[in-house]
Amino acid sequence: MAVLSRCSRAVTAATTPNAAAAKFSYLIRALSPFSSSSSSSSSSTFDADNGLNSRIKPAVLGTLKREPKDRNVQWVFLGCPGVGKGTYASRLSDLLGIPHIATGDLVRDELASSGPLSSQLKEIVNQGKLVSDEIIIDLLSKRLEAGEAKGESGFILDGFPRTVRQAEILEGVTDIDLVINLKLREEALLAKCLGRRICSECGGNYNVACIDIKAENGRPGMYMAPLPPPPQCASKLITRPDDTEEVVKQRLRIYQAMTRPVEDFYRSRGKLLEFDLPGGIPESWPKLLCALNLEDREDKQSAAA
Ligand code: ADP
Repeated sequence: MAVLSRCSRAVTAATTPNAAAAKFSYLIRALSPFSSSSSSSSSSTFDADNGLNSRIKPAVLGTLKREPKDRNVQWVFLGCPGVGKGTYASRLSDLLGIPHIATGDLVRDELASSGPLSSQLKEIVNQGKLVSDEIIIDLLSKRLEAGEAKGESGFILDGFPRTVRQAEILEGVTDIDLVINLKLREEALLAKCLGRRICSECGGNYNVACIDIKAENGRPGMYMAPLPPPPQCASKLITRPDDTEEVVKQRLRIYQAMTRPVEDFYRSRGKLLEFDLPGGIPESWPKLLCALNLEDREDKQSAAA
């Protein structure tokens, strides 16, 4: 009840909210073959033993015990720019057979399309600002609609919700099972954004930054190796126009102001899994799988090979 009234307040406050929220609501409902509503209004504490909140274990882990391909999870990735949301969301998407939907990619696709929104979006994104809720919900709705037509179900959202109002709208229309909050030492975030490279042909994500933070004042060191492109991509690398130092710093400030409160929103509902990245992919991926009670057999086999 509380969630619904908050949602309708959020919808009422939007610029042109009703159409967007109604469309979003329809699509999300259509894509919600199962729900874990038991955790939707719970407030509980973080279980440091295995990183999963004790109150969400029955709801979430009940589904995780099944074979990954047999369930349709509805997960959200939160975390600062450069933390690796896209990398880990896309790996989980491959593992679970669930679509990875990154609203940043939807915005960039719209920019590249030279459609009517394109020049308006370019200015906003290149200044590191947030796009309006109305536009984001419209882009997300269209993506979900296209997925629904292809028989997709479940999702791993990356980059949405990014404001409490977006979280309220989402919470009002569907049950999010789990929110994974990726955390990385602040000194690594800027370097990771500046080192990011994308293959203009295949869209692959790479990173040329070598992060080597020395142990200091009792804090452990941290090493993150670069993620070099394969030879066929090496000459086709581009940098995102919003990955300049000035714009990344602005995006980090906006994250603190607008998105940090989304962590509290989900924490108070017992849905937040805090995950401190211990290093690069080789160190972090197995630990993340462990925290999610998942296993990547292919990864194990390739590690053993
Ligand atoms: P980041 O690396 O900062 O997490 P993303 O690739 O997720 O960047 O997003 C790129 C840009 O797209 C953002 O800076 C913002 O302008 C826009 N954007 C993406 N998702 C949202 C959202 N949920 N709400 C508003 N703007 C968004």
